[in-house]
Parts: sequence; structure tokens; C-alpha cells
Amino acid sequence: MASYDFDLFTIGAGSGGVRASRLAARYGARVGVAEEHRVGGTCVIRGCVPKKFFVYASEFGRMFHEAKGYGWTSGAPQFSWPKLIENKDNEIDRLNGIYIRNLKNAGAEIFETRAIVKDPHTVHLVGEGRDVTAEKILISTGGAPWVDETVPGHELGVTSNEAFHLERFPDHVVVAGGGYIAVEFACIFKGLGADVCLVYRGEDILRYFDSDISVQVHAELKRQGIRVVTQAVFDGIEDLGNGARRVHLSNGTKLDADLVFWAVGRRPATEGLGLEKAGVELGKNGAVKVDEWSRSSVESVFAVGDVTDRVNLTPVAIREGAAFAETQFNDNPQKMDYAFISKAVFSNPPVGSVGYTEAEARRKFGAVDVYKTDFRQMKHMLTGDEQRTLMKIVVDAASDKVVGVHIVGEHGPEMIQCLAIAVKAGVTKADFDATCALHPTAAEELVTMREKFTPKF
Ligand code: NDP
Repeated sequence: MASYDFDLFTIGAGSGGVRASRLAARYGARVGVAEEHRVGGTCVIRGCVPKKFFVYASEFGRMFHEAKGYGWTSGAPQFSWPKLIENKDNEIDRLNGIYIRNLKNAGAEIFETRAIVKDPHTVHLVGEGRDVTAEKILISTGGAPWVDETVPGHELGVTSNEAFHLERFPDHVVVAGGGYIAVEFACIFKGLGADVCLVYRGEDILRYFDSDISVQVHAELKRQGIRVVTQAVFDGIEDLGNGARRVHLSNGTKLDADLVFWAVGRRPATEGLGLEKAGVELGKNGAVKVDEWSRSSVESVFAVGDVTDRVNLTPVAIREGAAFAETQFNDNPQKMDYAFISKAVFSNPPVGSVGYTEAEARRKFGAVDVYKTDFRQMKHMLTGDEQRTLMKIVVDAASDKVVGVHIVGEHGPEMIQCLAIAVKAGVTKADFDATCALHPTAAEELVTMREKFTPKF
């Protein structure tokens, strides 16, 4: 039998890679992990975690204002962008340290270098100028922001990678895209005091969500003063000097800004990894093609997380990594279950969603019942904020099972995380109806909707 330096060599220490490596090491495997940036990956270092700190920061601006309705007065609040960055960086450093410690404590060896696949059992450690061998190789390099390089001046824009370390907080921001990152950052910048314009190529932003969600978020962005330009893309970005930029849109509009932000999607990070040369088949946008066991076209090479472009969410990568480790190193075959994964967009107000959209449910189940409510949350009766909350329940008419719940409104993601347990377990609308309301909460609306919504065609 061939003897290798490692039982498992993981390239990429993000959410999926770290979970797989820790578990495999815990099960007795000799594990090596290479990371060219920082252990923790996109989620911890330049994604979900720092983004959520920015979201919290942006909420405080509104809270100072809202508090007046409850009798509070204070001096004019001041915001320090450098202080936010410093505090956020300190916390990210702490988390990075925890991730490193957890890997080491589990017995994994960390290599702080870029690594490339040389053949099905060999990895080249670029920074160390040497090869190591492994019985199994796991690719968990995640994704990277994509920028449309055909647009003249595209390099004058930043991506989410740079947004976490801007030296100066911008006054005028133009965001390209209508997905998660575009909508979240548009709200963050607006909440922190910038003037924001979002440019989307289609009609309805967040188009993968239920159409009522898209419409509601669109309306809420506009209500808070974010300009939303639809049916347009960037034709060019011009440098006006001293950090000033002019964005030329396909519809002839010109927008001046001191920050241009690309949020037009992410691509799997496989470029230059040596995968094709090693025989690993890549799919659309360079994603590693894998089977339900996360195995690539090469028997000894596996991939989990965003690099496979299945469902690009941190908890999914973690579960894919865990299923891989259980299967390969604990004799406990496990496949990732992709049904009823809840999703959130941390916009203002935020979105929480689980299960089928109304359109998807109609295609899948035929007859569906829809329940909807749209209201102002009690807190805003005294703040004067006109923000509205939308809740929608989608029910398979034949079985009475709740197959989708969609919320736009404060605490929507928190409600959905709890509801997802019930929806995944097969809860029925009758179960919702039988549940006594908790008063006064916004969530009580979920168990008091009785009227079926009839579409007006
Ligand atoms: P998304 O896929 O969410 O959105 C990309 C946006 O860019 C879409 O509106 C898309 O339009 C638009 N777009 C794509 N190509 C072009 C183009 N050539 N010109 C103009 N516009 C274009 O990607 P994000 O980058 O926002 O996020 C990447 C992934 O990261 C998400 O899919 C999600 O899985 C994950 N993520 C999750 C978060 C969360 O859980 N809260 C937060 C941030 C990211 P169209 O809709 O027409 O295709």
C-alpha cells in the first residue's frame, strides 16, 4: 500500500475546510491544511461576520433617531468609521486565533501558503517550495468576487473584499448588482450616512426570493432614500481625480460617486489550482464538479463549499465538510440534505426565508394556498418610522403542509431560523392555527393568519 505524508490534505481553511479537517483529525486522520490568506475564510475574515458587525453599526444610526419617539434626547450622535474598523478587526483577529487553535488542538498541521494540486495524491506548497502527498485531497478554496472586466475603468471599483478596509467612509456610493451583497451593502452604507444608488440589470432585485419579498425590499430601499436604478448596467467608470468617479450607465445616466462597489456575483476560486491538469473536471464558472459524496471526477480528490457552487452559504459548507469527514474518516456515510435550507438577507429591513417561493410551489405542487400579512411593527407606532413588515406562508393545498415561509421585517431572520425546524419537520397550516399566539410580538402574526390570499388577476 502506498504511504502518504497525510491521510487528508485540505486546501483552503474556510468554514467547510476547517470543519472537515477538524473532524477528520479528531477521528485519527493525519491532516494537513494549507491557507494562503487567513484561517477562517470568507465568512469569518471578509464575509458574514464582519458584514454583520457593519449591519449592527448601521442600525444604531436609526436607533438614535427612533429613541426620540420614546422620550429620549441626546446630543447629535457622531460616527467614527476608523473606530468601527478597528473594533471589527480586533474581533476578527480573535476569531482567526480561535480557528487556528481549534485546528491545531484537533491535531491538524497548518501551512500558511498557497497550495496547488500536482497530481491526485500530491500537493505543492508554493511558499515552502516543496511537495507533500496525501491519500485524499479536499478542495475548499471557496469563491471570490467577480468583476465585469469588459467594463472600461472596472478597476476603479471595489468589491466586498476591499469594503471591509476602506480608509475613508464614502459620501456617495454606487453599487452594481441586485443580489445578497449589493442589497446588504447598499443598506449598510445608507445606514451609516452615505448617499447610495443601486444599479440592477433586471426588474426585481433579490430575484431568487419570493416575488413579494423582492417587491417589498425594493420598496423599503426606496423608502429609506436609496436610489434604485433597474434595467441598467455599468458601461464605464471614469476617474475624475482625487478619488471622484463617474459611472456611465447603459441607459445614458451618469452617476458621480466616491465609491463604486461591484456586487455582481462570486465565482468559485479554482484558477491556477492545477485541478484540470490533475484530471479534476470543472463545471460552469470553474466550479469543481462533485457527486453527492462531494467526490470529484478524480477518486482521491473531494470538494466542499462555495468552490462547488451548490448552495453558497456558510452553514451548508460546514455540513458538507462534516458529511465528507464522517463518510471518509468515521465509517459513517452521510450526504448533505439540501431541503429547506433557510436564508437571510441582512438588509434594512432584513429578509428571512425558508422553503419554496409561491411560484416554485405552484410549479411543484400545483394547488397552493397563500397567506399574507403586511403591517407596521408595534415599536414603530411611537418611532414614526413607516417601515413595514411582510409575512407570507405558502401551503401545499393537498397535504396542508407549510412548504414556504417568507418574511421581510425586523427580526425576520431570527424568526425564520426557528420556523425552519418546524417546516423541515413537515408542519401543517393546521399546526400553525393550533398554536397559541405570543402577545405582543411581531411573530404572533404567523399563527393568526386565517384568510387565504386570493390573487387579483
Ligand atoms: P448574487 O448571485 O446574490 O447576486 C449577483 C447579482 O449580480 C445579481 O443581482 C445578478 O443579476 C447581478 N449580475 C450578475 N452578472 C451581472 C452582470 N454581468 N452585470 C450586471 N449584473 C450582474 O451574488 P452576490 O455576489 O451578492 O453573493 C454571492 C453569494 O454569496 C450569494 O449567492 C450567497 O449565496 C452568498 N451570500 C450570502 C449572504 C447571506 O447569507 N446573507 C450574504 C452575502 C453573500 P441577476 O439577479 O439578474 O442574475
